[in-house]
Amino acid sequence: MAFRALVVEKDDEGKTHGSVQTLDEAQLPQGDVTVAVEYSTVNYKDGLCLGPGGGLVRSYPHVPGIDFAGVVEASDDPRYKAGDKVVLTGWRVGEVHWGGYAEKARVKADWLVPLPDGLSTRAAMAVGTAGFTAMLAVMALEDHGLKPGAGEVLVTGAAGGVGSVATAILAQLGHEVAAVTGRPEQEDYLKGLGAARIVARADLAETVKRPLEAETWAGCVDAVGGAMLARVLGQMKYGASVAAVGLAGGAGLPATVIPFLLRGVNLLGIDSVMQPHDNRLRAWERIARDLPMDKLEAMIAPATLEDLPRLGAAILKGEVRGRVVVDVRG
Ligand code: NDP
Repeated sequence: MAFRALVVEKDDEGKTHGSVQTLDEAQLPQGDVTVAVEYSTVNYKDGLCLGPGGGLVRSYPHVPGIDFAGVVEASDDPRYKAGDKVVLTGWRVGEVHWGGYAEKARVKADWLVPLPDGLSTRAAMAVGTAGFTAMLAVMALEDHGLKPGAGEVLVTGAAGGVGSVATAILAQLGHEVAAVTGRPEQEDYLKGLGAARIVARADLAETVKRPLEAETWAGCVDAVGGAMLARVLGQMKYGASVAAVGLAGGAGLPATVIPFLLRGVNLLGIDSVMQPHDNRLRAWERIARDLPMDKLEAMIAPATLEDLPRLGAAILKGEVRGRVVVDVRG
């Protein structure tokens, strides 16, 4: 059975090239469930895997795509049967294992999550790893005491994938969201998702010598890291938490421990890739319940397999807004 896939190959000079090719089902990697993929998406990590790999891809030719949603075609595992709708994020699929940029994928049953009621395969990929991670971050803040009415919750990298979904979920839950963006032209978009106010990236980009500033934020979902995260730590309210999700602005953390010692600030690490199954189910249920579908629709930029090499480069430059949804069939 032939199917189409976006295949990345490496030439003799070590340069990578992506193209849409027709593959045979016999070429799929080992796994116990074969899925007819309907939709995939583009995350920051996909940008790396579509390009030089960033050390994530182990062997070529490679089919990237760290997320997919589709319908089970065949299963050797009793938990799944033909016709079940499933979603997959993480587990290094699309990095070391062939991923979702194809009409078919074969994976371990342990990696799959049944699609929650009320969520289509398209909506699941509008969420994807970025949105799933945003939900994990919101859950972590709640588990550490964040409640609506506590004050403004900051979202950094707000017009990106993680930031857009975090903004929409937090606003829907009744939080007052302050959205940090370096793209002022995205103000209407972010306010449409529920942001109460926009904070210019430049206001938080500069490092300051003072380890503590005015207590401003009741919580934070941070997709940026680097100097911005360091700055935000010193602006958190007493006992408040920051969910550290990303490094779009850098992996370094030029901070002091003073906010932890004098204000009891919590820095919560969020990992979506190896997240245990039970928490995945909890997060997807929460997404189906707490993410307004009209807001999700506003984040979607549709794409096909042919668009992926261009979109991979764009997301690495911070040029993608919201969530790209890739219809792998068309
Ligand atoms: P996007 O590219 O969609 O969003 C990142 C956003 O960060 C951009 O849209 C931009 O927002 C902002 N940004 C980009 N460059 C800079 C910069 N130099 N300084 C400050 N802000 C910047 O990516 P995703 O939302 O998919 O991912 C965001 C981050 O989260 C990435 O680092 C990614 O690797 C990480 N991630 C981590 C996961 C985990 O499991 N922990 C899972 C998923 C993602 P704006 O234009 O609004 O300023």
